[in-house]
Amino acid sequence: MDWNWRSIPAEYVIANVRVCRGGKLAKRRGFLHVKKGKVETVGVGEPTAEGFPTLDAGGWVCAPGLVDLHAHFREPGQEEKETIATGSRAAAAGGFTAVVTMPNTQPAIDNAGLVRYVIDRGLEAGLCRVFPTGAISTGRTGETLCEYGEMVAAGAVGFTDDGSPVAHGGLMRNALEYASMLGVPIVSHAEDRTLAGAGVMHEGYWATRLGLEGIPRAAEDACTYRDIELARATGAHLHVAHVSTRGSVELIRRAKAEGVRVTAEATPHHLTLDHSLCRSWSTMFKMNPPLREPDDVAAVAQALAEGVIDCVSTDHAPHTATEKELQFDQAPFGVVGLETALAVGITHLVREGRLDLGVLVQRMSERPAEIFHLPCGRLEEGNDADFMLFDPDEIWSVDPAALQSKSKNTAFAGQTLTGRVKATFLRGRLTWRDADGSLEK
Ligand SMILES: [Zn+2]
Repeated sequence: MDWNWRSIPAEYVIANVRVCRGGKLAKRRGFLHVKKGKVETVGVGEPTAEGFPTLDAGGWVCAPGLVDLHAHFREPGQEEKETIATGSRAAAAGGFTAVVTMPNTQPAIDNAGLVRYVIDRGLEAGLCRVFPTGAISTGRTGETLCEYGEMVAAGAVGFTDDGSPVAHGGLMRNALEYASMLGVPIVSHAEDRTLAGAGVMHEGYWATRLGLEGIPRAAEDACTYRDIELARATGAHLHVAHVSTRGSVELIRRAKAEGVRVTAEATPHHLTLDHSLCRSWSTMFKMNPPLREPDDVAAVAQALAEGVIDCVSTDHAPHTATEKELQFDQAPFGVVGLETALAVGITHLVREGRLDLGVLVQRMSERPAEIFHLPCGRLEEGNDADFMLFDPDEIWSVDPAALQSKSKNTAFAGQTLTGRVKATFLRGRLTWRDADGSLEK
């Protein structure tokens, strides 16, 4: 039967796929049968269901829709950088079906009304599930806690002042206790600002050579240490965002071994790029935390493989070209990441033999959903049909202009990557199809 991308039927079969779930890529080809937005069957071999529109995916990998625990969609307040709609489109193009948004918008997401606003805009866009986090403190000023109970009731999945650390240890402790009662994590942007000072890149050889102010590893490690100790003391769930140093990796490794409820994420850029790139003076390598040294990059990647770092999160941080064109010390921190995350992982981790493809996918879907208790991330019979198809061998080059995100500030511009998202489905409905794809048959 013919497959028509313009009108995806209520019931269909995607045949000739390699299913990737539970940390494993199936050796044998299989199929996926979707019925009314739900997964009816995930099978091996030829489709058993007959008479439904069937798409031959030609051996592409079929995986759970990816889940990002760390994205900045900038709405409300900075819609010139990204909106919830454009961010959702970028997510779908990157194979994501769920995104946890950061609350450092203008105004900050610090009350139930604003949590609901983000959710509603996400539903309106309809391209991926949008799960907001709320701010730890009112206005992200680090002074008083927000009303977590009301915000969780409205749909907040965790709390963070991300973009800024919580300077006050006592407030952080109270936040952990309060969030713990509600069963949601506190996300730590671990940075001691008194140590980071006016730093714009990693403190080390290249900062000295370039005459730029550095951010020492200690700025991150000191705060990671404090927050882990507060998690230990309160029994609360601490999630450490964008780990960039070998020191923080070791702190998290030890804390996990000792039974502290800590989880952690790393970004595609911290997993693959180092501070030497800053010698180009390109602000596409300016992010916070900064790109570190090769041994930090190796330690973070190793920790991801071992599960010490639980998941890959993008820290998708859109900024306009005008802002990023400022000189290095003036430009804002951050890069977009949703549309390159999977391919960066395949190219630099999987193909270099440091991580199995199945494990990479698990660290980008099942595991993040699990640690944030999100109702998605598993490709299983009876679940919503949130899934994506990708070609693990397709080679492409990152063209910033071709990105769906409103902002084009990628650290991977011009890089040749392997692995391309071909199509993304949310509740069985197509949310993205790669324009160059040969799927139309
Ligand atoms: Zn952050």
